[in-house]
Amino acid sequence: MPIYDNDFETMPREGLEAIQLRRLQTTIERIYATVPFYKETYKKAGISPSDIKRLDDIRRLPFTTKQDLRDNYPYDMFAVPMEQVVRIHASSGTTGKPTVVGYSKRDINTWSALMARSMSAAGATSKDIIHNAWGYGIFTGGLGAHYGAERLGASVIPVSGGNTKRQITIMQDFKPTILCGTPSYILHLAEVADEMGVDFKDLHFKSGIFGAEPWTEEMRQELQAKLHLKAVDIYGLSEVMGPGVSVECIEEQSGLHVFEDHFIVEVVDPDTLEPVPYGDPGELVFTSITKEAFPVIRYRTKDITTLNPVPCTCGRTHIRMNKPSGRTDDMLIIRGVNVFPSQIESVLMENHEITPHYQLEVDRVDNLDTLTVKVEIDDTMFRDDIKGLQSMESKISHDIKELLGVSAKVALVEPKTIARSQGKAVRVIDHRKF
Ligand SMILES: [Zn+2]
Repeated sequence: MPIYDNDFETMPREGLEAIQLRRLQTTIERIYATVPFYKETYKKAGISPSDIKRLDDIRRLPFTTKQDLRDNYPYDMFAVPMEQVVRIHASSGTTGKPTVVGYSKRDINTWSALMARSMSAAGATSKDIIHNAWGYGIFTGGLGAHYGAERLGASVIPVSGGNTKRQITIMQDFKPTILCGTPSYILHLAEVADEMGVDFKDLHFKSGIFGAEPWTEEMRQELQAKLHLKAVDIYGLSEVMGPGVSVECIEEQSGLHVFEDHFIVEVVDPDTLEPVPYGDPGELVFTSITKEAFPVIRYRTKDITTLNPVPCTCGRTHIRMNKPSGRTDDMLIIRGVNVFPSQIESVLMENHEITPHYQLEVDRVDNLDTLTVKVEIDDTMFRDDIKGLQSMESKISHDIKELLGVSAKVALVEPKTIARSQGKAVRVIDHRKF
């Protein structure tokens, strides 16, 4: 497959690291002069920009957290005057205030180019028609993908989320070839198509670019089988840029290449904050080295994954991060056992008679944590045979106990009874009071 930005994406490591160091030094000098938060933090830590002499020196810099961004709400982390800011986005503020991010003209340019790279990695070319089902608005997904598709020269349909039946009609009539969206909404689309008697086999998709929430390898198999396309994962977060920080290549579909000429990636132990060896899981940390309006230094994402430095057959030299397995703040502690929703998802997907629609309910009864896994069974398998259902429930419960070491009550529910999301899926309802 052609590589959009061949010179940079296949650059030998030595040259790439030289660029990273130069760009890191420039960024640190600039934020030290323009963002009081960084200047104060670095002074306290006894660090000055001239201390950054080698790439490894990045480890001497303090981390930046979501709380730091909140404390500087809305604009105090901006590194350029407002007249140079041409776009403002914000993260969803599910807890507390949202985090606000700004982009200069050059930042929008960079982001568009990185999204064009990402789409190209997923097999898109200027001949493709891109059905963009990420939400347009203050969330970065919709506009990020939109600008990337235009940069690539592809034809983009700005469908956004929602209005699902109309989306199916558009797919039939406009014949898009690349599908973008959150995996849970895409599953919902597939379901509605099914109700309308539309088979994805008869549509024209060759690949799907799915992201904005963690999803498992098992979910990939499910999506590929249902939608008759190749599914690749894309990663990003508004604090670092938006989608297009890293992406899987369609050749391997195995780990997401981080665009290292724009971001320095680290994986650290979330407790000690020390870097972990390649292959060991830890928290993803990003430093942006080309952003003007809103650079972040060693930003703790809370996403958990591993790094893979093995060269890739696609020809890209940029390191791969594996699909994030969860977030440190998604982690449930059930009777002392750490459980991620994605681990439950993996167990559920092994069973072909149930659908990928599930929800975890956590409660505390008589001072004991309880976990209930609600999962829908397949339409065709829905039957009145109580014994059959009960035995399936206990089989899944047994598998969860065996693989994750936690007891869970499994409740099979009728098809289409778990609420569908238009954006990110709500996987966990925690009734416990802390
Ligand atoms: Zn690759």
